[in-house]
Amino acid sequence: MTTPNAIGTSLGLLGDEWSLLIVQQQLLGRRRFSALQTALGIGPTVLSSRLTALVDGGVLDKRDDGYRLTEAGKELWSLLLCIWAWEQRWVQGEALPTMRHSVCGEVFAPDLHCAGCGGPASSNDVTVALGPSGKLARAVPVGSNRRRTGSSRAEGPGLFPETMALMGSRWSSATLGAAFLGARRFRDFEAVLGAPPNVVSERLRQFVDLGVLDAGYGLTDKGRDLFPAVTQLVAWGERWHPAPDGPALLATHACGALFLPRLVCSACAAPLSRAAVAIEPSRTQHRKSS
Ligand SMILES: [Zn+2]
Ligand SMILES: [Zn+2]
Repeated sequence: MTTPNAIGTSLGLLGDEWSLLIVQQQLLGRRRFSALQTALGIGPTVLSSRLTALVDGGVLDKRDDGYRLTEAGKELWSLLLCIWAWEQRWVQGEALPTMRHSVCGEVFAPDLHCAGCGGPASSNDVTVALGPSGKLARAVPVGSNRRRTGSSRAEGPGLFPETMALMGSRWSSATLGAAFLGARRFRDFEAVLGAPPNVVSERLRQFVDLGVLDAGYGLTDKGRDLFPAVTQLVAWGERWHPAPDGPALLATHACGALFLPRLVCSACAAPLSRAAVAIEPSRTQHRKSS
């Protein structure tokens, strides 16, 4: 029996179609059970079970007047920011909040940089290897069987649909991880995932349909652009749910430093902090077309 590593624990906690949405609502200030239920259109039993899991996982505290994000929970703002930015860039037809950087006053996107050298970072210049707890079987989310099977856009919560398709289930997140670890051929994925061929081919087909992998199973631009969100999830997991035998992944930036992600503002290049990010409710946004 394998124990999950930091990635497996985080995905078990957050890679669920509701959990990140609950965290998002908390960040937007909706803290009471009834407010969450109204905002998410979620049944009371499901909401209650997700809230309990988030409290047990150290993301939320239960208070008399509702729920509050813990320090660990508050740190998820950067993961959500990366997911919002990715969905804004690649997924059509979603009403997502707008993020404004209060330091420079501009609407911005988060840019990924290396905390070591301060330079820009992407999946092209970060080398990833498996760490001491990196066996892929241990990066498979725990408790993922509670995810409803066959859920689709039509019956899901309707937000982050593509993100959830990519990391919201047991094999999807492992497939994505394998792609970032350099798997390219069918048998690479099969070997890394240790899953039956029909599962591997089903996942790969889904990823090709979503435009994240090309027909040759290489990451597309859309797929590579998930890297900032993946680095935030991994960094959060290693900080709050580390495995006793060490990190799951060892990442090195092109500068030679151990890679630690830092997000900077695309408009002014200053490092981003949660307090400096103002979330504006979604509207049909008029964007500069030039
Ligand atoms: Zn660097
Ligand atoms: Zn800025």
